[in-house]
Amino acid sequence: MAQEDVFKKIVAHCKEYGFVFPSSDIYDGLAAVYDYGQNGVELKNNIKQYWWQSMVLLHDNIVGIDSAIFMHPTIWKASGHVDAFNDPLIDNRDSKKRYRADVLIEDEIAKYDDKIEKEVAKAAKRFKEDFDEAKYRATSPKVLELQEKREALHARYSAAMNAMDLNELRQIILDEEIVCPISGTRNWTEVRQFNLMFSTEMGSTADGAMKVYLRPETAQGIFVNYLNVQKTGRMKVPFGIAQIGKAFRNEIVARQFIFRMREFEQMEMQFFVRPGTEMEWFSKWKETRMKWHQALGFGADHYRFHDHEKLAHYANAATDVEFLMPFGFKEVEGIHSRTNFDLSQHEKYSGKSIKYFDPETNESYTPYVIETSIGVDRMFLSVMSAAYTEEQLENGETRVVLKLPAALAPVKLAVLPLVKKDGLPEKAREIVNDLKFHFNTIYDEKDSIGKRYRRQDAVGTPYCVTVDHDTLNDNCVTLRNRDTMQQERVAISDLNTIIADRVSITSLLKKLQ
Ligand code: ATP
Repeated sequence: MAQEDVFKKIVAHCKEYGFVFPSSDIYDGLAAVYDYGQNGVELKNNIKQYWWQSMVLLHDNIVGIDSAIFMHPTIWKASGHVDAFNDPLIDNRDSKKRYRADVLIEDEIAKYDDKIEKEVAKAAKRFKEDFDEAKYRATSPKVLELQEKREALHARYSAAMNAMDLNELRQIILDEEIVCPISGTRNWTEVRQFNLMFSTEMGSTADGAMKVYLRPETAQGIFVNYLNVQKTGRMKVPFGIAQIGKAFRNEIVARQFIFRMREFEQMEMQFFVRPGTEMEWFSKWKETRMKWHQALGFGADHYRFHDHEKLAHYANAATDVEFLMPFGFKEVEGIHSRTNFDLSQHEKYSGKSIKYFDPETNESYTPYVIETSIGVDRMFLSVMSAAYTEEQLENGETRVVLKLPAALAPVKLAVLPLVKKDGLPEKAREIVNDLKFHFNTIYDEKDSIGKRYRRQDAVGTPYCVTVDHDTLNDNCVTLRNRDTMQQERVAISDLNTIIADRVSITSLLKKLQ
Protein backbone atom coordinates (compact mmCIF):
# COMPACT_ATOMS: atom_id res chain seq x y z
CA MET A 1 0.00 0.00 0.00
CA ALA A 2 1.31 3.48 -0.83
CA GLN A 3 2.48 5.38 2.24
CA GLU A 4 0.07 8.18 1.44
CA ASP A 5 -2.82 5.73 1.68
CA VAL A 6 -1.50 4.38 4.97
CA PHE A 7 -1.46 7.90 6.35
CA LYS A 8 -5.03 8.55 5.20
CA LYS A 9 -6.11 5.34 6.90
CA ILE A 10 -4.44 6.37 10.16
CA VAL A 11 -6.20 9.74 10.09
CA ALA A 12 -9.54 8.03 9.42
CA HIS A 13 -8.87 5.46 12.13
CA CYS A 14 -8.10 8.21 14.65
CA LYS A 15 -11.51 9.72 14.01
CA GLU A 16 -13.50 6.50 13.82
CA TYR A 17 -12.17 5.16 17.11
CA GLY A 18 -12.31 8.31 19.22
CA PHE A 19 -8.64 9.28 19.18
CA VAL A 20 -8.56 12.61 17.30
CA PHE A 21 -11.39 14.75 15.91
CA PRO A 22 -11.09 17.94 13.85
CA SER A 23 -11.84 20.85 16.18
CA SER A 24 -15.33 22.38 15.82
CA ASP A 25 -16.25 19.38 13.68
CA ILE A 26 -19.96 20.21 13.33
CA TYR A 27 -18.92 23.63 11.97
CA ASP A 28 -16.68 21.89 9.40
CA GLY A 29 -13.54 22.22 11.51
CA LEU A 30 -10.95 24.89 12.19
CA ALA A 31 -7.73 24.66 10.20
CA ALA A 32 -4.90 22.88 12.00
CA VAL A 33 -6.72 22.65 15.32
CA TYR A 34 -7.73 19.24 16.69
CA ASP A 35 -9.53 17.73 19.66
CA TYR A 36 -8.61 14.48 21.38
CA GLY A 37 -11.43 12.01 21.95
CA GLN A 38 -12.10 9.43 24.65
CA ASN A 39 -9.26 7.11 23.58
CA GLY A 40 -6.94 9.87 22.37
CA VAL A 41 -6.89 11.65 25.70
CA GLU A 42 -5.89 8.43 27.49
CA LEU A 43 -3.07 7.73 25.06
CA LYS A 44 -1.93 11.34 25.24
CA ASN A 45 -1.98 11.33 29.04
CA ASN A 46 0.05 8.12 29.09
CA ILE A 47 2.68 9.65 26.76
CA LYS A 48 2.88 12.69 29.02
CA GLN A 49 3.13 10.55 32.11
CA TYR A 50 5.91 8.45 30.57
CA TRP A 51 7.87 11.61 29.74
CA TRP A 52 7.20 13.35 33.07
CA GLN A 53 8.13 10.39 35.19
CA SER A 54 11.26 9.68 33.14
CA MET A 55 12.37 13.24 33.88
CA VAL A 56 11.11 14.03 37.36
CA LEU A 57 10.94 10.59 39.03
CA LEU A 58 14.13 9.15 37.61
CA HIS A 59 16.35 12.21 38.13
CA ASP A 60 16.73 13.60 41.61
CA ASN A 61 18.09 16.84 40.11
CA ILE A 62 15.08 17.53 37.83
CA VAL A 63 11.88 19.15 39.11
CA GLY A 64 8.74 20.26 37.30
CA ILE A 65 6.76 23.48 37.02
CA ASP A 66 3.55 24.64 35.38
CA SER A 67 3.84 28.24 34.20
CA ALA A 68 1.11 30.43 32.69
CA ILE A 69 0.42 30.73 28.97
CA PHE A 70 0.30 34.54 29.21
CA MET A 71 3.60 36.13 30.10
CA HIS A 72 4.98 39.65 30.29
CA PRO A 73 5.33 40.82 26.65
CA THR A 74 8.94 41.92 27.19
CA ILE A 75 9.85 38.25 27.63
CA TRP A 76 9.20 37.70 23.91
CA LYS A 77 11.30 40.72 23.04
CA ALA A 78 14.16 39.34 25.17
CA SER A 79 13.84 35.83 23.71
CA GLY A 80 14.00 37.17 20.16
CA HIS A 81 10.51 35.99 19.20
CA VAL A 82 9.08 39.44 18.49
CA ASP A 83 11.83 40.27 16.01
CA ALA A 84 12.88 36.91 14.64
CA PHE A 85 10.18 34.26 15.02
CA ASN A 86 9.22 34.60 11.38
CA ASP A 87 8.59 32.44 8.36
CA PRO A 88 9.05 33.78 4.82
CA LEU A 89 5.72 33.62 3.01
CA ILE A 90 4.74 34.04 -0.63
CA ASP A 91 1.31 34.18 -2.32
CA ASN A 92 0.24 32.92 -5.68
CA ARG A 93 -1.88 35.67 -7.28
CA ASP A 94 -4.00 33.27 -9.32
CA SER A 95 -4.96 30.67 -6.72
CA LYS A 96 -4.76 33.20 -3.83
CA LYS A 97 -2.99 30.45 -1.88
CA ARG A 98 -0.22 31.24 0.57
CA TYR A 99 2.96 29.20 0.92
CA ARG A 100 6.14 29.18 2.94
CA ALA A 101 8.85 30.17 0.50
CA ASP A 102 11.38 27.96 2.29
CA VAL A 103 9.05 24.96 2.10
CA LEU A 104 8.48 25.43 -1.65
CA ILE A 105 12.24 25.37 -2.20
CA GLU A 106 12.82 22.46 0.18
CA ASP A 107 10.17 20.47 -1.72
CA GLU A 108 12.04 21.24 -4.91
CA ILE A 109 15.29 19.94 -3.38
CA ALA A 110 13.42 16.79 -2.30
CA LYS A 111 12.28 16.32 -5.92
CA TYR A 112 15.93 16.09 -7.03
CA ASP A 113 16.49 13.47 -4.31
CA ASP A 114 13.48 11.52 -5.56
CA LYS A 115 14.71 11.66 -9.13
CA ILE A 116 18.14 10.36 -8.06
CA GLU A 117 16.58 7.49 -6.09
CA LYS A 118 14.39 6.59 -9.07
CA GLU A 119 17.44 6.45 -11.35
CA VAL A 120 19.22 4.18 -8.87
CA ALA A 121 16.17 1.93 -8.48
CA LYS A 122 15.81 1.66 -12.26
CA ALA A 123 19.48 0.67 -12.64
CA ALA A 124 19.21 -1.86 -9.79
CA LYS A 125 16.36 -3.53 -11.65
CA ARG A 126 18.27 -3.55 -14.91
CA PHE A 127 21.60 -4.93 -13.59
CA LYS A 128 20.11 -7.26 -10.96
CA GLU A 129 22.84 -9.14 -8.91
CA ASP A 130 25.65 -7.36 -10.74
CA PHE A 131 24.52 -3.98 -9.48
CA ASP A 132 27.15 -1.98 -7.61
CA GLU A 133 25.14 0.87 -6.11
CA ALA A 134 28.04 2.96 -4.82
CA LYS A 135 29.81 2.79 -8.18
CA TYR A 136 26.65 3.67 -10.06
CA ARG A 137 26.03 6.70 -7.87
CA ALA A 138 29.63 7.85 -8.38
CA THR A 139 29.74 7.40 -12.16
CA SER A 140 26.27 7.63 -13.75
CA PRO A 141 26.25 10.90 -15.76
CA LYS A 142 22.50 11.32 -15.14
CA VAL A 143 22.84 10.89 -11.37
CA LEU A 144 25.88 13.16 -11.26
CA GLU A 145 24.06 15.88 -13.16
CA LEU A 146 21.04 15.70 -10.83
CA GLN A 147 23.33 15.65 -7.81
CA GLU A 148 25.18 18.73 -9.01
CA LYS A 149 21.95 20.65 -9.58
CA ARG A 150 20.67 19.61 -6.20
CA GLU A 151 23.84 20.74 -4.42
CA ALA A 152 23.85 24.08 -6.23
CA LEU A 153 20.23 24.73 -5.27
CA HIS A 154 20.85 23.67 -1.70
CA ALA A 155 23.86 25.97 -1.37
CA ARG A 156 21.98 28.93 -2.83
CA TYR A 157 18.98 28.26 -0.60
CA SER A 158 21.08 27.90 2.59
CA ALA A 159 22.87 31.17 1.88
CA ALA A 160 19.56 32.98 1.30
CA MET A 161 18.07 31.58 4.50
CA ASN A 162 21.13 32.39 6.57
CA ALA A 163 21.04 35.98 5.36
CA MET A 164 17.19 35.98 5.39
CA ASP A 165 17.45 37.48 1.90
CA LEU A 166 13.78 37.58 0.86
CA ASN A 167 14.46 38.80 -2.70
CA GLU A 168 16.87 35.96 -3.26
CA LEU A 169 14.33 33.41 -1.97
CA ARG A 170 11.84 34.74 -4.52
CA GLN A 171 14.44 34.67 -7.26
CA ILE A 172 15.20 31.02 -6.51
CA ILE A 173 11.51 30.18 -6.84
CA LEU A 174 11.40 31.98 -10.22
CA ASP A 175 14.68 30.47 -11.48
CA GLU A 176 13.64 26.95 -10.52
CA GLU A 177 10.32 27.59 -12.28
CA ILE A 178 8.38 26.42 -9.23
CA VAL A 179 4.64 26.54 -9.90
CA CYS A 180 1.70 26.79 -7.51
CA PRO A 181 0.31 23.26 -7.05
CA ILE A 182 -3.25 24.62 -7.27
CA SER A 183 -3.17 27.11 -10.18
CA GLY A 184 -0.12 25.69 -11.90
CA THR A 185 1.16 29.25 -12.54
CA ARG A 186 4.29 31.20 -11.60
CA ASN A 187 2.42 34.39 -10.77
CA TRP A 188 4.12 34.94 -7.39
CA THR A 189 4.02 37.97 -5.09
CA GLU A 190 7.05 39.30 -3.19
CA VAL A 191 8.28 37.24 -0.22
CA ARG A 192 7.31 38.72 3.14
CA GLN A 193 8.19 37.94 6.74
CA PHE A 194 5.35 36.61 8.82
CA ASN A 195 5.51 36.46 12.62
CA LEU A 196 4.16 33.20 13.99
CA MET A 197 3.03 34.48 17.39
CA PHE A 198 -0.66 34.90 18.17
CA SER A 199 -1.45 38.05 20.11
CA THR A 200 -4.39 39.32 22.08
CA GLU A 201 -5.11 42.17 24.50
CA MET A 202 -5.10 42.09 28.25
CA GLY A 203 -7.02 44.61 30.42
CA SER A 204 -9.75 47.09 29.49
CA THR A 205 -9.08 49.63 26.77
CA ALA A 206 -9.97 52.48 29.20
CA ASP A 207 -6.68 52.15 31.06
CA GLY A 208 -4.74 51.13 27.99
CA ALA A 209 -4.86 47.48 27.07
CA MET A 210 -1.58 45.65 26.87
CA LYS A 211 -0.70 43.50 23.88
CA VAL A 212 0.14 40.02 25.11
CA TYR A 213 1.15 36.88 23.22
CA LEU A 214 0.03 33.30 23.47
CA ARG A 215 3.33 31.58 24.20
CA PRO A 216 4.90 29.95 21.12
CA GLU A 217 7.00 27.65 23.33
CA THR A 218 6.93 26.63 26.98
CA ALA A 219 10.69 27.11 27.46
CA GLN A 220 10.56 30.81 28.38
CA GLY A 221 8.30 30.01 31.36
CA ILE A 222 11.15 27.87 32.65
CA PHE A 223 13.87 30.49 32.07
CA VAL A 224 12.02 33.27 33.87
CA ASN A 225 11.35 30.93 36.82
CA TYR A 226 14.86 29.54 36.89
CA LEU A 227 15.92 31.57 39.92
CA ASN A 228 12.65 30.99 41.83
CA VAL A 229 13.07 27.25 41.48
CA GLN A 230 16.81 27.24 42.09
CA LYS A 231 16.41 29.20 45.34
CA THR A 232 13.24 27.64 46.77
CA GLY A 233 14.27 24.12 45.75
CA ARG A 234 17.89 24.72 46.82
CA MET A 235 18.95 23.23 43.50
CA LYS A 236 22.61 22.87 42.66
CA VAL A 237 23.94 23.13 39.11
CA PRO A 238 23.66 20.84 37.18
CA PHE A 239 19.88 20.64 37.53
CA GLY A 240 16.85 20.63 35.28
CA ILE A 241 13.32 22.05 35.14
CA ALA A 242 10.62 20.19 33.23
CA GLN A 243 7.30 21.46 31.98
CA ILE A 244 4.39 20.18 29.88
CA GLY A 245 2.00 22.73 28.42
CA LYS A 246 0.21 24.27 25.48
CA ALA A 247 2.00 26.37 22.87
CA PHE A 248 0.55 28.33 19.97
CA ARG A 249 1.96 29.14 16.54
CA ASN A 250 0.16 30.76 13.65
CA GLU A 251 1.67 28.29 11.16
CA ILE A 252 1.31 29.48 7.57
CA VAL A 253 1.03 26.08 6.05
CA ALA A 254 -0.62 23.74 8.46
CA ARG A 255 -0.81 20.26 7.08
CA GLN A 256 -0.21 16.61 7.80
CA PHE A 257 -2.87 16.26 10.46
CA ILE A 258 -1.54 16.72 14.00
CA PHE A 259 2.07 17.00 12.78
CA ARG A 260 1.80 20.77 12.41
CA MET A 261 -0.93 22.43 14.47
CA ARG A 262 -1.72 25.98 15.50
CA GLU A 263 -2.43 24.93 19.09
CA PHE A 264 -0.26 22.09 20.36
CA GLU A 265 1.44 20.77 23.45
CA GLN A 266 5.12 20.60 24.29
CA MET A 267 7.15 18.68 26.84
CA GLU A 268 10.30 20.66 27.50
CA MET A 269 13.17 20.23 29.90
CA GLN A 270 15.87 22.85 30.38
CA PHE A 271 19.03 21.54 31.99
CA PHE A 272 21.30 24.15 33.61
CA VAL A 273 25.00 23.37 33.55
CA ARG A 274 28.36 24.93 34.33
CA PRO A 275 29.79 26.83 31.30
CA GLY A 276 32.29 24.65 29.45
CA THR A 277 30.52 21.38 30.34
CA GLU A 278 27.65 21.85 27.89
CA MET A 279 28.95 19.59 25.11
CA GLU A 280 29.32 16.71 27.52
CA TRP A 281 25.73 17.21 28.70
CA PHE A 282 24.51 17.67 25.14
CA SER A 283 25.73 14.20 24.18
CA LYS A 284 24.44 12.73 27.42
CA TRP A 285 20.96 14.09 26.78
CA LYS A 286 21.04 12.90 23.17
CA GLU A 287 21.71 9.40 24.44
CA THR A 288 19.13 9.59 27.24
CA ARG A 289 16.39 10.85 24.96
CA MET A 290 17.06 8.26 22.25
CA LYS A 291 16.83 5.54 24.88
CA TRP A 292 13.46 6.93 25.98
CA HIS A 293 12.14 6.71 22.42
CA GLN A 294 13.53 3.27 21.70
CA ALA A 295 12.21 1.77 24.96
CA LEU A 296 8.79 1.82 23.27
CA GLY A 297 9.94 -1.11 21.16
CA PHE A 298 9.12 0.10 17.65
CA GLY A 299 12.65 -0.74 16.48
CA ALA A 300 15.82 1.35 16.26
CA ASP A 301 15.40 1.71 12.48
CA HIS A 302 12.46 4.06 13.12
CA TYR A 303 14.71 6.76 14.57
CA ARG A 304 17.65 8.85 13.52
CA PHE A 305 19.42 12.03 14.58
CA HIS A 306 19.54 14.94 12.21
CA ASP A 307 22.25 17.40 13.23
CA HIS A 308 21.55 21.01 12.30
CA GLU A 309 23.85 22.60 9.75
CA LYS A 310 22.38 26.02 10.33
CA LEU A 311 22.42 26.85 14.03
CA ALA A 312 20.08 29.38 15.61
CA HIS A 313 21.95 32.48 16.77
CA TYR A 314 21.82 31.31 20.40
CA ALA A 315 22.85 27.68 19.91
CA ASN A 316 26.27 26.05 19.74
CA ALA A 317 24.95 22.55 18.95
CA ALA A 318 21.57 21.22 17.89
CA THR A 319 20.07 17.98 16.68
CA ASP A 320 16.61 16.62 15.94
CA VAL A 321 15.33 13.20 16.81
CA GLU A 322 13.53 12.15 13.65
CA PHE A 323 10.93 9.42 13.44
CA LEU A 324 9.93 7.44 10.36
CA MET A 325 6.38 8.71 9.76
CA PRO A 326 4.32 7.45 6.78
CA PHE A 327 5.52 10.61 4.99
CA GLY A 328 9.23 10.05 5.71
CA PHE A 329 11.65 10.82 8.55
CA LYS A 330 10.37 13.88 10.41
CA GLU A 331 11.38 15.86 13.48
CA VAL A 332 9.68 14.79 16.68
CA GLU A 333 12.07 16.29 19.20
CA GLY A 334 14.77 18.95 19.26
CA ILE A 335 17.83 18.81 21.51
CA HIS A 336 19.66 22.10 21.67
CA SER A 337 22.66 23.51 23.43
CA ARG A 338 21.37 27.06 23.99
CA THR A 339 24.48 28.52 25.66
CA ASN A 340 23.62 31.19 28.25
CA PHE A 341 21.65 33.17 25.68
CA ASP A 342 18.20 33.02 27.28
CA LEU A 343 19.24 33.70 30.85
CA SER A 344 21.57 36.54 29.78
CA GLN A 345 18.81 38.12 27.70
CA HIS A 346 16.40 38.02 30.64
CA GLU A 347 19.06 39.56 32.88
CA LYS A 348 19.51 42.34 30.37
CA TYR A 349 15.81 43.05 29.74
CA SER A 350 14.59 42.64 33.35
CA GLY A 351 17.57 44.40 34.90
CA LYS A 352 17.73 41.67 37.59
CA SER A 353 20.74 39.50 38.24
CA ILE A 354 19.93 35.83 37.79
CA LYS A 355 23.45 34.53 38.22
CA TYR A 356 24.21 31.33 40.07
CA PHE A 357 26.77 31.18 42.86
CA ASP A 358 28.58 27.88 42.61
CA PRO A 359 29.66 26.76 46.10
CA GLU A 360 32.05 24.23 44.59
CA THR A 361 34.08 26.68 42.53
CA ASN A 362 33.29 29.78 44.57
CA GLU A 363 32.30 31.77 41.50
CA SER A 364 29.15 33.30 40.07
CA TYR A 365 28.09 32.64 36.53
CA THR A 366 25.11 32.50 34.19
CA PRO A 367 24.51 28.77 33.61
CA TYR A 368 24.53 27.25 30.15
CA VAL A 369 21.44 25.35 29.06
CA ILE A 370 20.76 22.08 27.29
CA GLU A 371 17.16 21.89 26.11
CA THR A 372 15.15 18.81 25.19
CA SER A 373 11.90 19.80 23.50
CA ILE A 374 9.34 17.35 22.21
CA GLY A 375 5.83 17.88 20.84
CA VAL A 376 3.20 15.70 22.54
CA ASP A 377 1.06 15.65 19.40
CA ARG A 378 3.93 14.67 17.11
CA MET A 379 4.88 11.96 19.57
CA PHE A 380 1.25 10.82 19.51
CA LEU A 381 1.32 10.70 15.70
CA SER A 382 4.56 8.72 15.67
CA VAL A 383 3.15 6.18 18.14
CA MET A 384 -0.05 5.85 16.11
CA SER A 385 1.86 5.47 12.83
CA ALA A 386 4.12 2.76 14.22
CA ALA A 387 1.27 0.93 15.95
CA TYR A 388 -1.26 0.87 13.10
CA THR A 389 -1.19 -2.60 11.53
CA GLU A 390 -3.38 -4.41 9.04
CA GLU A 391 -3.00 -8.14 9.43
CA GLN A 392 -4.00 -10.97 7.15
CA LEU A 393 -5.37 -13.80 9.27
CA GLU A 394 -5.18 -17.52 8.54
CA ASN A 395 -8.92 -17.70 7.89
CA GLY A 396 -8.58 -15.14 5.12
CA GLU A 397 -9.99 -12.22 7.12
CA THR A 398 -8.02 -9.07 7.84
CA ARG A 399 -7.89 -7.29 11.17
CA VAL A 400 -6.80 -3.78 12.04
CA VAL A 401 -4.81 -3.80 15.24
CA LEU A 402 -3.06 -0.97 17.04
CA LYS A 403 0.10 -2.54 18.41
CA LEU A 404 0.55 0.13 21.05
CA PRO A 405 3.07 -0.44 23.82
CA ALA A 406 0.82 -1.80 26.60
CA ALA A 407 1.87 0.97 28.97
CA LEU A 408 0.55 3.61 26.53
CA ALA A 409 -2.67 1.83 25.50
CA PRO A 410 -5.83 3.78 26.44
CA VAL A 411 -7.59 0.68 27.82
CA LYS A 412 -5.57 -2.11 29.40
CA LEU A 413 -8.24 -4.76 29.82
CA ALA A 414 -11.72 -5.38 28.38
CA VAL A 415 -13.96 -7.78 30.27
CA LEU A 416 -16.47 -9.51 28.02
CA PRO A 417 -19.32 -11.81 29.13
CA LEU A 418 -19.84 -14.50 26.50
CA VAL A 419 -23.61 -13.95 26.58
CA LYS A 420 -25.83 -11.29 28.11
CA LYS A 421 -27.60 -13.70 30.51
CA ASP A 422 -27.15 -16.54 32.98
CA GLY A 423 -25.35 -14.34 35.49
CA LEU A 424 -22.31 -13.80 33.19
CA PRO A 425 -22.72 -9.99 33.00
CA GLU A 426 -22.83 -9.79 36.80
CA LYS A 427 -19.68 -11.89 37.12
CA ALA A 428 -17.92 -9.74 34.49
CA ARG A 429 -18.90 -6.54 36.29
CA GLU A 430 -17.49 -7.95 39.50
CA ILE A 431 -14.12 -8.37 37.80
CA VAL A 432 -14.23 -4.82 36.39
CA ASN A 433 -15.12 -3.39 39.79
CA ASP A 434 -12.15 -5.09 41.35
CA LEU A 435 -9.55 -4.33 38.67
CA LYS A 436 -10.57 -0.75 37.79
CA PHE A 437 -8.62 0.50 40.80
CA HIS A 438 -5.41 -0.90 39.34
CA PHE A 439 -5.60 -0.05 35.63
CA ASN A 440 -8.06 1.13 33.00
CA THR A 441 -10.58 -1.71 32.69
CA ILE A 442 -13.79 -1.61 30.67
CA TYR A 443 -16.88 -3.77 30.29
CA ASP A 444 -18.39 -4.60 26.90
CA GLU A 445 -21.36 -6.89 26.20
CA LYS A 446 -22.58 -5.64 22.80
CA ASP A 447 -22.21 -7.78 19.62
CA SER A 448 -20.59 -11.17 19.08
CA ILE A 449 -17.40 -12.01 20.93
CA GLY A 450 -15.45 -11.88 17.63
CA LYS A 451 -16.65 -8.35 16.92
CA ARG A 452 -15.80 -7.25 20.44
CA TYR A 453 -12.25 -8.59 20.07
CA ARG A 454 -11.87 -6.66 16.81
CA ARG A 455 -13.11 -3.47 18.45
CA GLN A 456 -10.54 -3.80 21.22
CA ASP A 457 -7.79 -4.64 18.68
CA ALA A 458 -8.64 -1.43 16.84
CA VAL A 459 -8.09 0.74 19.94
CA GLY A 460 -5.01 -1.22 21.01
CA THR A 461 -6.31 -2.91 24.18
CA PRO A 462 -3.54 -5.39 25.08
CA TYR A 463 -5.78 -7.87 26.96
CA CYS A 464 -9.37 -9.13 26.85
CA VAL A 465 -10.93 -11.63 29.22
CA THR A 466 -14.04 -13.63 28.41
CA VAL A 467 -16.38 -14.75 31.12
CA ASP A 468 -18.21 -17.97 30.18
CA HIS A 469 -20.45 -20.49 31.91
CA ASP A 470 -17.49 -22.43 33.35
CA THR A 471 -16.32 -19.23 35.04
CA LEU A 472 -19.27 -19.44 37.43
CA ASN A 473 -17.93 -22.77 38.71
CA ASP A 474 -14.14 -22.57 38.40
CA ASN A 475 -13.57 -18.80 38.80
CA CYS A 476 -11.33 -18.86 35.74
CA VAL A 477 -11.56 -16.76 32.58
CA THR A 478 -10.07 -16.87 29.08
CA LEU A 479 -7.33 -14.27 28.74
CA ARG A 480 -6.62 -13.18 25.15
CA ASN A 481 -3.43 -11.46 24.05
CA ARG A 482 -3.93 -8.70 21.43
CA ASP A 483 -0.78 -9.34 19.40
CA THR A 484 -0.55 -13.13 19.40
CA MET A 485 -4.33 -13.65 19.69
CA GLN A 486 -3.46 -16.59 21.92
CA GLN A 487 -5.85 -17.50 24.68
CA GLU A 488 -5.13 -19.08 28.03
CA ARG A 489 -7.28 -20.05 30.96
CA VAL A 490 -6.34 -18.16 34.11
CA ALA A 491 -7.78 -17.71 37.60
CA ILE A 492 -9.61 -14.42 38.19
CA SER A 493 -7.54 -13.96 41.34
CA ASP A 494 -4.33 -13.99 39.22
CA LEU A 495 -5.45 -11.34 36.69
CA ASN A 496 -4.06 -8.38 38.59
CA THR A 497 -0.63 -9.97 39.02
CA ILE A 498 -0.45 -11.06 35.40
CA ILE A 499 -1.58 -7.77 33.86
CA ALA A 500 -0.66 -4.89 36.21
CA ASP A 501 3.10 -5.06 35.76
CA ARG A 502 3.02 -5.38 32.00
CA VAL A 503 0.72 -2.40 31.45
CA SER A 504 2.28 0.02 33.92
CA ILE A 505 4.39 3.04 33.01
CA THR A 506 6.90 1.63 35.51
CA SER A 507 7.56 -1.27 33.13
CA LEU A 508 8.77 1.28 30.55
CA LEU A 509 10.72 3.34 33.07
CA LYS A 510 12.65 0.27 34.19
CA LYS A 511 14.03 -0.10 30.68
CA LEU A 512 15.66 3.31 31.02
CA GLN A 513 17.79 2.46 34.01
P1 ATP B 1 9.39 22.66 12.70
O1 ATP B 1 10.74 22.86 12.09
O2 ATP B 1 8.75 21.35 12.35
O3 ATP B 1 8.48 23.83 12.53
P2 ATP B 1 10.57 23.58 15.10
O4 ATP B 1 12.00 23.22 14.85
O5 ATP B 1 10.11 24.96 14.90
O6 ATP B 1 9.62 22.56 14.27
P3 ATP B 1 10.79 23.60 17.91
O7 ATP B 1 10.59 25.05 18.02
O8 ATP B 1 12.16 23.04 18.11
O9 ATP B 1 10.18 23.08 16.53
O10 ATP B 1 9.75 22.88 18.88
C1 ATP B 1 10.03 21.68 19.57
C2 ATP B 1 9.04 20.59 19.24
O11 ATP B 1 7.70 21.08 19.31
C3 ATP B 1 9.16 20.05 17.83
O12 ATP B 1 10.15 19.06 17.75
C4 ATP B 1 7.78 19.48 17.58
O13 ATP B 1 7.67 18.17 18.12
C5 ATP B 1 6.88 20.40 18.37
N1 ATP B 1 6.21 21.37 17.48
C6 ATP B 1 6.71 22.54 17.01
N2 ATP B 1 5.81 23.18 16.23
C7 ATP B 1 4.71 22.38 16.21
C8 ATP B 1 3.43 22.49 15.59
N3 ATP B 1 3.10 23.56 14.85
N4 ATP B 1 2.55 21.49 15.79
C9 ATP B 1 2.85 20.42 16.55
N5 ATP B 1 4.04 20.27 17.16
C10 ATP B 1 4.96 21.23 17.00
